[in-house]
Amino acid sequence: MSFNTLGLSESILSAIKAKGYTTPSPIQEKSIPAILTGRDVMAAAQTGTGKTAGFTLPVLELLSKGQSVKSNNVRALVLTPTRELAAQVSESVENYSANLKISSTVVFGGVKINPQMMRLRKGVDVLVATPGRLLDLFHQNAVKFSQLEVLILDEADRMLDMGFIRDIKKIISLLPQKRQNLLFSATFSPEIRALAKGLVNKSIEISVNPENSTAKTVEQYVIPTDKKKKSKLVSYLIIENDWQQVLIFTKTKHGANRLTRDLEAQGINAAAIHGNKSQGARTKALANFKSGDIRVLVATDIAARGLDIDQLPQVVNYELPNVSEDYVHRIGRTGRAGSTGFAISLVCADEHKLLEDIEYVIQNHIKRKIEPGFEPINELPPSRKIRPLKAKKPKKPKKPKQEKVEHKDGQRSGENARGHKPKSKNTKHRNNQTSSAGKLKGKSKDRPNKSKSSKQITGKSDPYSASR
Ligand code: AMP
Repeated sequence: MSFNTLGLSESILSAIKAKGYTTPSPIQEKSIPAILTGRDVMAAAQTGTGKTAGFTLPVLELLSKGQSVKSNNVRALVLTPTRELAAQVSESVENYSANLKISSTVVFGGVKINPQMMRLRKGVDVLVATPGRLLDLFHQNAVKFSQLEVLILDEADRMLDMGFIRDIKKIISLLPQKRQNLLFSATFSPEIRALAKGLVNKSIEISVNPENSTAKTVEQYVIPTDKKKKSKLVSYLIIENDWQQVLIFTKTKHGANRLTRDLEAQGINAAAIHGNKSQGARTKALANFKSGDIRVLVATDIAARGLDIDQLPQVVNYELPNVSEDYVHRIGRTGRAGSTGFAISLVCADEHKLLEDIEYVIQNHIKRKIEPGFEPINELPPSRKIRPLKAKKPKKPKKPKQEKVEHKDGQRSGENARGHKPKSKNTKHRNNQTSSAGKLKGKSKDRPNKSKSSKQITGKSDPYSASR
């Protein structure tokens, strides 16, 4: 099949050609004609399947035929769980709309709000946003939804995992009743179905991957070893195999920092990306990794969500994730859009149960390979036989728990989190002014960031400026 048969105009087709895409991916084949009908669409598609173009291309096609946008208004709203994903989706929108009179911009927390307010002043056709910052902007009258035609929830499953359900419901309540809704999610879990009930209407459902299946183009294996040997083993693997671009996952932010230091000590260029890093530092690390200046990017799960690095050849699980589904997301970073990738997990005896849980979710035993010189003293027991998957019982959507969300992408800044009362009327704030100010200083991650590096992004060289 070619893109020419999907109902897209010449301007969009030439932008696709410029990106070098020749054939639509399976999700694009199904989602583009479905969205062009103007109906609601629910799509089960993992990251790496080409889902972003799957919703962006038909939405641009529809918008290019409509009315022009009024000041502070938005015609299509894309909500994403993380800042990195928001930035990437926005970049795709810019690329695909290069030949159209369509404006777009991106807003997320962790950077100054004022430049974002300025960019929204004239109105934008497509706004990509994390939920918390969008609500902040709405409460400051910087964004209006009366012209909204399309709402897109991207990686909706992750948004629920990160506790954004209340913000999402609040945003939905602000939108005009008559609109098109597109819900993209890695899986259609019972929680996603519950969310969809109040959102989509007579939707077209499409799915390209069985639930939690890992990309076929990813070769996976486990290297059994001891916890203490992991750092040396990972440096050995990078040097011995001459890997030039490796994404490594650790469980904790401290673990990510420690491993980065160990790698640097071995002469391997590395940077860490996690929720304690400023947005500026994260953007810089990602850019350096993409350009090849940094050989290894060490990331925690939430920070890595949405990273799209073309043809990433190598993913290493330094530690297995506690949530088995995160394994699927982690290895989705490699083997993207048809290219082959390798995902290697360094597993010690303590992680045996986590490995079995992952094997249950992916319904496959992962091959094991012993690396001579790094054999475990504490043996990794063989995995038990895999039980067939059981349907999960619907759970109540989680309430957002501030302390437990490691990286508060998209959550509101301290100012509006006080219930939108002016400081003078907020007794709680008045009484606690000194102590809460003290707390904020050290802990808040979503205050507009005043570090030098974030100034670089939000100042003159802001890379996410509106384009017309
Ligand atoms: P996504 O799943 O949207 O994160 O996209 C994954 C990667 O696939 C991105 O790097 C896209 O640029 C790329 N991509 C999207 N559509 C196609 C296509 N039809 N052919 C080749 N690559 C594509």
